[in-house]
Amino acid sequence: MYPQAFEYVRPESVERAVGLLREYGDRAKVLAGGQSLIPLMKLRLASPQVLIDIGRIPGLSMIKEDGEFLRIGALTKHRDLERTPLIRERYSILVDAAHSLGDPQVRNLGTVGGALAHADPASDWGAAFLAFDAKLVTKGPDGERTISIDDFFKDTFVTAVKPTEILTEVRIPKAGTRDGGAYLKLKRKTGDFATVGAATQLGLDAKGHIADVRIGLAAVGPTPIRAKRAEAHLRGKAPHKEALAEAAKLAAQDARPTSDLRGSEEYKRAMVEVFTRRALEKAVERAGR
Ligand SMILES: Cc1cc2nc3c(=O)[nH]c(=O)nc-3n(C[C@H](O)[C@H](O)[C@H](O)COP(=O)(O)OP(=O)(O)OC[C@H]3O[C@@H](n4cnc5c(N)ncnc54)[C@H](O)[C@@H]3O)c2cc1C
Repeated sequence: MYPQAFEYVRPESVERAVGLLREYGDRAKVLAGGQSLIPLMKLRLASPQVLIDIGRIPGLSMIKEDGEFLRIGALTKHRDLERTPLIRERYSILVDAAHSLGDPQVRNLGTVGGALAHADPASDWGAAFLAFDAKLVTKGPDGERTISIDDFFKDTFVTAVKPTEILTEVRIPKAGTRDGGAYLKLKRKTGDFATVGAATQLGLDAKGHIADVRIGLAAVGPTPIRAKRAEAHLRGKAPHKEALAEAAKLAAQDARPTSDLRGSEEYKRAMVEVFTRRALEKAVERAGR
C-alpha cells in the first residue's frame, strides 16, 4: 500500500526542526531513518500531513566519551554502534544489541534515537539502555531537558518526549575497568523482533563482588522493563552461579509477557529466566576479563 500524500521538509538545524514541530503541531511527524515510521505510513496506521526529516541535521550522529559519559547522538545508526572500535572494546552490550537488531538494511538506515522514540515494547535498545543508568537529552521550545531512562517509557509506543521536542542524545556512564554487560535475544529467525530479550550491565568491586547491576527486559511488558528485584538480589553478592540463577528466577516472576504468535505467556516467562541467567553469566565473564 502507498502512504497518503504528505509534505516533506528538511530542516538544517534542531532549532528549525523544533520550530516546524510547533508550527505544524500534531499534523507533523519527525522522520529519522524511517525504519518504523515509513512501514506504518504504508499500512496507513500513521498518516502525517507533514514529514520533518531530521536525518541530515549536523551534529546528531556521534559516538564519543566525554567526561563521565559515553555520548551517542540520536541519529547514530544501529550499524555505527555495531562497528565502532570504542564500542566493540568497551561496551559489549551495545554491540550485542546492535548486532541482533533487524537485518543489515535496517541497521544501516535505522537510528538509535528513532528506535527509542518509537518505544516498541520489544525494542532491543529499550532493554539495553535500561541496563545502563542512561539519560536521554531532548531539545524543545523551552531548551534542553534530560530524562532518566527510568522515566522515559510511559506506555506502549509512548515516551516522555513532548510533541514539540526532538530527542538529540543518549548518555550512559563511561565503562569502568571491571564493568561487563551482555544482551541476549531469543528470536524466531534472523531479522525478527525479540520473543524475549535480556540485557544486563554490572560492575565488580575490588573483592570481585557485584557492586552494581541493572537488568532490562524486552518484549515482556507494555514497555521495555527493568527486573528490579533481581537486581536487588545480586547487589553486594559474589557472582556465584546460584545467585545468578536465583536472580533470573526473580526476573521471570516480575516479567509481564502476554501470549501471542511468538509464544505463550508461560513459554516466554521460562525464556526470561534462561536468557537472564545466561546474560548475567556472560556479563560477569566480561567484567572479569
Ligand atoms: C524489517 C525490520 C526489522 C526490525 N527489527 C527490529 C528488531 O529486531 N529490534 C528492534 O528493536 N527494532 C527493529 N525494527 C525497528 C527499527 O529498527 C527501529 O524502530 C527503527 O530503526 C527506528 O529508527 P528510525 O531512525 O528508523 O526511526 P523512524 O522510523 O524515522 O521514526 C520512528 C519514530 O520515532 C520518531 N522519531 C525518530 N527520531 C526522533 C527523534 N530524534 N526525536 C523525536 N522523535 C523521533 C518518529 O517521529 C517516529 O514516530 C525493525 C524494523 C524493520 C523495518
